[in-house]
Amino acid sequence: MITLKKALTLNKDELNKFKEQLKAKIEARPELNAYIDINNVGEGIPIAIKDNIQVKDWSVTSGSNILQGYISPYNATVIEKMLGAGLSPFGRTNMDEFAMGSTTESSFYGRTLNPHANDRVPGGSSGGSAAAVGAGLAIAALGSDTGGSIRQPAAYCGIVGMKPTYGRVSRYGLGAYASSLDQIGPMTQNVEDAAILYDIISGHDDKDSTSAKMNDKVSDKLNPNRKLRIAVLPKYIENASQDVKDAYAQATQALRNAGHEIVEKELMDAKYDISAYYITATAEATTNLARYDGIRYGNRKVGKDLNDTFVKTRSEGFGNEVKRRILLGNFVLSSGYYDAYYVKAQKVRHLIKDEYAKIFNDVDLILSPVAPSVANKFGEFSNPMEMYLSDIYTISVNLAGLPALSLPINKNADGMPVGLQLIAKAYDEQTLFDGALGLEKEINYAN
Ligand code: GLN
Repeated sequence: MITLKKALTLNKDELNKFKEQLKAKIEARPELNAYIDINNVGEGIPIAIKDNIQVKDWSVTSGSNILQGYISPYNATVIEKMLGAGLSPFGRTNMDEFAMGSTTESSFYGRTLNPHANDRVPGGSSGGSAAAVGAGLAIAALGSDTGGSIRQPAAYCGIVGMKPTYGRVSRYGLGAYASSLDQIGPMTQNVEDAAILYDIISGHDDKDSTSAKMNDKVSDKLNPNRKLRIAVLPKYIENASQDVKDAYAQATQALRNAGHEIVEKELMDAKYDISAYYITATAEATTNLARYDGIRYGNRKVGKDLNDTFVKTRSEGFGNEVKRRILLGNFVLSSGYYDAYYVKAQKVRHLIKDEYAKIFNDVDLILSPVAPSVANKFGEFSNPMEMYLSDIYTISVNLAGLPALSLPINKNADGMPVGLQLIAKAYDEQTLFDGALGLEKEINYAN
């Protein structure tokens, strides 16, 4: 598949020919179920879009039954920016319902397969975007990351996934899951493409009240040869699988070879991250999902009166994982439990932020796992808690609002990709991309 950088040099005829070929390629791989639809807006370079980002006149459903029939009346800010830069939304990709999940199994449209092994999950919730890029069915894609949903599927499918600093990319037009954690970001074949796409979609937006008043760009200043101080976390990775530990050792050595200074640091036991995240995320999700009442959007199930219509619409429209989170979110926000759970989770969130700040007083980047293992097989998790634990290495980054980039390091004995992430301090995307580009060159991963 051609890179985004190369695609930017094609003329109109070449681009149209490429799009026809791309369409045929996608149609030849229906079993992957990476795309829900292939519809195209504009004449530019085709980019795959996760099904929770508004594209005018598209059906946009967040992978849910409750939004069947909803047609978006407007473009998300990231889509406007893409169109302005000669890119065009091309196909919407499959995802876990309302971005809740780590496997893309909870989609109303059925599961997506991992392109490297069809009996394994592509990761989630941006599994469709990751599988599309990983299978050579997209030049690049947009995903969203609330607790790892760009970085983890990127790692499972052998591609690059980048979560920007909170506030760098406008959330206007992103179907909200947990508003204080959500960020849209690029999913690409390599680090340079991620920087190019990041530059296109980022920047201040008056339509998002949490948007940072910053517009600095990174891709024309990329420098893979900068010498950096990079933290490794020997104790933090102890519970990861041998595959991940091997990749971690390989990446650490590669960073040393590239002339970086490696220092050992520690982060607090990640088990607290899971609790703080699932309390915060479900509390916010409960509030955000209240708008799906069958009156304003999508799929209405008419009952005998108004209340019955609400109940029927929501009972039939939401899947089990979403219902579980609505219940959890209401529980942690209810009087009597609010202080014990919600307030406590916010305190833990502050501790996590402080811990990262302390490390970043001394280093430029942190090297961390993305997930505890390679992509799991379908049906491997026997309960939701096991799935939640697979987010253990990604969610603290969202709780702290930091930028991070997941890139492929190697493949295990079964041929499954292993990805790792670099984490930078808030708003230091330049250092993040510089370090990642250097590591990518040193590792020389072959898909
Ligand atoms: N797996 C996490 C969750 O289910 C993260 C999802 C995401 O980043 N959207 O909440």
